Amino acid sequence: MIASKLPHVGTTIFTTMSRLAAETGALNLSQGFPDFDGPPALLEAVGRHVLAGHNQYAPMIGLPALREQVGLKIQRLYGRILDIEQEITITPGATQGIFCAIQALVRAGDEVIVFDPCYDSYEPSVQLSGGHCVHVPLQPPEFAMDWQRVREAITPRTRLIILNSPHNPSGAVLSPTDLDQLAALIRDRDIYLLSDEVYEHLVFDGQQHASVLCHDELYHRAFVISSFGKTCHVTGWKTGYVVAPPALSEELRKIHQYVSFAGVTPLQWALAEFMAAHPEHVTELPGFYQQKRDLFCQQLAHSRFKFVPTAGTYFQIADYSAICPDLPDLEMAFWLTREQGVACIPVSVFYQRPPADLRLVRFCFAKREDTLRQAAERLCRV
Ligand code: PMP
Ligand code: GLN
Repeated sequence: MIASKLPHVGTTIFTTMSRLAAETGALNLSQGFPDFDGPPALLEAVGRHVLAGHNQYAPMIGLPALREQVGLKIQRLYGRILDIEQEITITPGATQGIFCAIQALVRAGDEVIVFDPCYDSYEPSVQLSGGHCVHVPLQPPEFAMDWQRVREAITPRTRLIILNSPHNPSGAVLSPTDLDQLAALIRDRDIYLLSDEVYEHLVFDGQQHASVLCHDELYHRAFVISSFGKTCHVTGWKTGYVVAPPALSEELRKIHQYVSFAGVTPLQWALAEFMAAHPEHVTELPGFYQQKRDLFCQQLAHSRFKFVPTAGTYFQIADYSAICPDLPDLEMAFWLTREQGVACIPVSVFYQRPPADLRLVRFCFAKREDTLRQAAERLCRV
């Protein structure tokens, strides 16, 4: 046996639940991915670019045409004009961007503040860099930031703070005031930010996404990360990007070039072409997913689950304490999958120390209307 570098890490809950859904034939509302395809124009473009011979290494930092489109989108939506040579890096998935940003910044003994419940890839990435995570809980039921607790968690060893808005799994979104409060907290300190904004276009009810890209003071010390997988309904393409000021991008690229070197070439060509031809795609996304959220929530309203419609992401968390008050959420997720035919994710897995009375599961509503209706119907029988 070798001494594991990640002794506490097993198979992720996403693999476990998707596998169980496949084995049992349950509707899979667990792992976050759509059960419908990306836009036909995008899919068609990939085949065309493969046949056109765009099959060799892309430039290490990403195809210029794709970086240009990302730059234009950011200028349009967030008003920031980027140097696409120095500030945008295309990565094979947001996960890899997150990993490289953490490796670029965090040194042995450094502390990284994360907010529980938090996405599962952050902590192992921090551990591999020799740092360790300091977990600050978000405040239920809204999963709001408690800036006083953040202040208390900051020490001279704090190197990085990882934000995630819209937030997986709760769907909570940060406000511009949150960003101002954070800026005031770290103003005179040598602390950097990683802003995981993979759900940047999935913000509902007319709210605007408060991107770190809109915030001059924060952007100057930030890595901002997004994912074409979420934005274009193609999670299996594992293509994303990292935006950061030149000095930070330079360090990130030193890692990225030895983790993967570059993203997948024909996918980058297709994404660049699609973004140029369909700038409306991203502005239509909130409406597209809000309709799915509303449909799912309207149907689920007839069940014994309690919930508040999510503010962002394609996840809806729901409280099942009126159904099985004593059942831990992992067992509830197994039971719902095996016995009721709907797979979901237990929320406790996103915590270092889950509250003992946590009775929450997460449903992914990036699904066709008939899937959502069928799932809700089953959940209403529970
Ligand atoms: N961050 C969060 C919060 C996510 O939910 C996901 C989606 N799985 C990712 C990062 C990773 O995105 P990608 O699939 O592009 O690596
Ligand atoms: N981000 C996806 C989710 O939260 C899972 C991605 C993965 O399986 N690594 O469901």
